[in-house]
Amino acid sequence: MEAITTTGAADLEVIIVGGSYAGLSAAMALGRSLRRVLVIDGGLPCNRQTAHSHNFITQDGVVPAMIAGKARDQVLAYPSVQWINGMVTEARKEAGGFVITTASDESFHTLRVLFATGIYDMLPELSGFQACWGISVLHCPYCHGYEVNGKRLGIMANGDIAFDYVRLIHQWSKQLTLFTNGPSTLVDAHRQKIQQHGIAIIETPVSGVAHVGGYLSGVMLASGEVEVVDALFYRPAFRQHCDLPVALGCNLTEQGYIQADDFGKTNVPGVFVAGDNANMMRSVAAAVAAGNKAGAWINRELVEEQF
Ligand SMILES: Cc1cc2nc3c(=O)[nH]c(=O)nc-3n(C[C@H](O)[C@H](O)[C@H](O)COP(=O)(O)OP(=O)(O)OC[C@H]3O[C@@H](n4cnc5c(N)ncnc54)[C@H](O)[C@@H]3O)c2cc1C
Repeated sequence: MEAITTTGAADLEVIIVGGSYAGLSAAMALGRSLRRVLVIDGGLPCNRQTAHSHNFITQDGVVPAMIAGKARDQVLAYPSVQWINGMVTEARKEAGGFVITTASDESFHTLRVLFATGIYDMLPELSGFQACWGISVLHCPYCHGYEVNGKRLGIMANGDIAFDYVRLIHQWSKQLTLFTNGPSTLVDAHRQKIQQHGIAIIETPVSGVAHVGGYLSGVMLASGEVEVVDALFYRPAFRQHCDLPVALGCNLTEQGYIQADDFGKTNVPGVFVAGDNANMMRSVAAAVAAGNKAGAWINRELVEEQF
């Protein structure tokens, strides 16, 4: 039988898997509720390559790791909150709660588990995309649009999604080029509207982006031509960063998010989620709000159980 570690004199009440913005926010609400909490974090937040985070009041333009670092310092000042660097590799239900196991083979018993594990961006295997991701290949205009407003911007998308994306990015710049990366699947009405706004549509497949240190200078086409742009907007497909909630029985939405109510409660009793893994509104502010609500709701459930 495996050894179950208790990290202090008393058993854990909550384990938070993922110690980025959502997980830390939940840990703060729970630490302030005197709950015995362990945060286990793999250290790979999705925005780690971005130089400056925007659109979160009090932290606008701050390096993402500094926001998380300050949050961690504040959260770990609460004595009932503990932290481990590492990956959780197994989670299983057990009478009265869950057993959570890490890659280094430590196991912990807990009454509730919160997954704040984010999502994994599946970037295309195109030259330069990975290096430019979050620097000049951008997904979110609310996060990075202001910094490139009025510049020559590319959008790589096709079909209805492309129309929607072009319309949105047009708010930040009128110098737009749409790259459909293969034959266009735009409906005629959308194609006409895009062209009426003077936006070129390029259907030649994209082979990559030309860049220096993540800052792109153009979109490279399979024809050998390079279209000059200052930044490229692109929304990659994603998958859950961590499969354990699904392995525990959590339902996913059609879009691939973990299904949960407004307080992060999933269909599996005792399993909560917060942040990008359960919310298409992808921002630091939204992740912090979700963690804050989930933390309070977990405490409430424990209060009702224990009083
Ligand atoms: C390139 C890029 C730039 C962005 N820029 C901005 C911006 O400027 N402003 C803004 O508001 N938002 C921005 N965002 C969105 C923002 O970064 C996310 O909404 C936010 O990081 C979500 O926080 P989270 O805690 O849900 O997930 P994440 O920050 O992704 O953190 C998830 C954490 O869980 C850990 N984890 C996953 N699985 C396990 C496991 N099995 N065991 C242990 N740990 C695990 C990971 O290592 C990671 O530390 C950006 C996103 C991207 C991709």
